[in-house]
Amino acid sequence: MYDVVIVGAGTSGAYTAYRLAKAGLKTAIIEMKPREKIGEKVCGDAIGEHYFETLEIDPPKLGVDAEGIFEGVKVYSPSKKYFLTVRGKGYALNRKNFGQRLLKMALDSGAELYDKHTVVAPLIKENAVKGVKARELGKGVREFNAKVVIDASGSGAVVRTKLPREWWVSYKVPKEDIVMAYREIVEVTENPDEKYAIIYLDTELAPGGYWWWFPKSPNIANIGIGVQIKPGNPNPRIQYEKRIRPIIGKRYVKTLHAGGGLVPTRRMIPCMVWNGFIAIGDAACTANPIHGGGIGSSLLSGLAAIQTILEATEKGDYSIRGLWKHHHRYIEFYGAKQASLDVLRYLLQKFSNDDLEYVFEKSIISGDELYDMGTYGRLTSKVVSRARVALKLLSRPSMLKMLKDTKDLMDEAKELYRKYPENPDDYPAWREREKELYKRVRERFL
Ligand SMILES: Cc1cc2nc3c(=O)[nH]c(=O)nc-3n(C[C@H](O)[C@H](O)[C@H](O)COP(=O)(O)OP(=O)(O)OC[C@H]3O[C@@H](n4cnc5c(N)ncnc54)[C@H](O)[C@@H]3O)c2cc1C
Repeated sequence: MYDVVIVGAGTSGAYTAYRLAKAGLKTAIIEMKPREKIGEKVCGDAIGEHYFETLEIDPPKLGVDAEGIFEGVKVYSPSKKYFLTVRGKGYALNRKNFGQRLLKMALDSGAELYDKHTVVAPLIKENAVKGVKARELGKGVREFNAKVVIDASGSGAVVRTKLPREWWVSYKVPKEDIVMAYREIVEVTENPDEKYAIIYLDTELAPGGYWWWFPKSPNIANIGIGVQIKPGNPNPRIQYEKRIRPIIGKRYVKTLHAGGGLVPTRRMIPCMVWNGFIAIGDAACTANPIHGGGIGSSLLSGLAAIQTILEATEKGDYSIRGLWKHHHRYIEFYGAKQASLDVLRYLLQKFSNDDLEYVFEKSIISGDELYDMGTYGRLTSKVVSRARVALKLLSRPSMLKMLKDTKDLMDEAKELYRKYPENPDDYPAWREREKELYKRVRERFL
């Protein structure tokens, strides 16, 4: 019997295992990949430096688990005539080495790894998760029992989605809240910008998402595209071939690696815990609703789970009540901001290229304000009043109204999440308010 069984040795799973094992808990990680492939994840590989202090781990090292360092991000308008610079140090990770570092930390702290084990089902008894069943590659199915199971299996959420429908935590994520992404690691003759990760907004090329060019080194780049899953939206790989490759043009030398994946780009799932169970990372929808960055926030959700489980261990209470504080911790770290940015996502997914071009051309938002929005999830009144001047002159009152409503709804969403129920008894009423708020958001941006 383990204290904790963690499903998935990705970023959130390995980090959580490290801290729990270090605190003395008997911890197992169950991962379907072979040990040497852990960390190999199709990704944009970019992470901001600011996470590492909170996580209390060393930032990546250049030449070890980082391949490049950014001074910030540049966001381009659809015509590429305008851009905003969001300053802030970040890393182009060597994703595999980063994953292997976290794994080593976990194993050195005493966590046990069961690699080549695919989790196939939860073990459920008396309204609680008691463990998981996993199939070892080429062998049979075995059971792992634990006081708490953590689902850190990424966007597939392989445990959470197999829990009984009536458990709040088994919430089904709507398809349109997911972005399908495709990226290539490419050798190039040069990058458009050595010091900045670049995001290109273009609602025709990448509907509901964007495409990116993140330099890794003078001749290597991570170039990719994310598209919202929605009927009629194009396949990102085809868009990459048809639209992005010609833009890379003569700078293209060869493709070193290619692949795709899914990113849930929305607010956190409304309930993340049950008796003996916590979901973290993509399995709980912790990625940023606007840019889909999910490495840092998946680690923060791991940190929330670590603190919650240590407290539950002290009290000997792994019930939904004993684990409930996980929500408050995660909301404080990231969830409140995510809830408000999810409102902004609806606005951005409604915008046309023409609308976006106006926002850039009229300098309605500055790079610092964009940073502020990304960091705190708030749209300042300054942006709305600047928009008022610019858009009135351009006789675009509907866009102005939309911006104003967005700001109000973002504030309301953040406030609602900050008032997350203190205990499970009050959850059903809160959930009704949450549903009602996002119904209004959807209707506003239909
Ligand atoms: C194309 C793309 C680009 C992205 N770019 C960025 C970026 O630039 N910056 C950023 O911050 N985020 C980015 N993201 C998002 C980021 O990769 C994820 O948010 C993050 O990896 C989530 O971490 P996680 O620990 O929740 O899951 P993962 O890192 O996905 O780990 C899940 C682990 O669970 C294992 N697993 C799955 N199923 C089972 C099973 N049945 N049994 C056992 N093990 C299982 C997997 O093998 C994996 O090791 C991108 C995502 C994609 C798809």
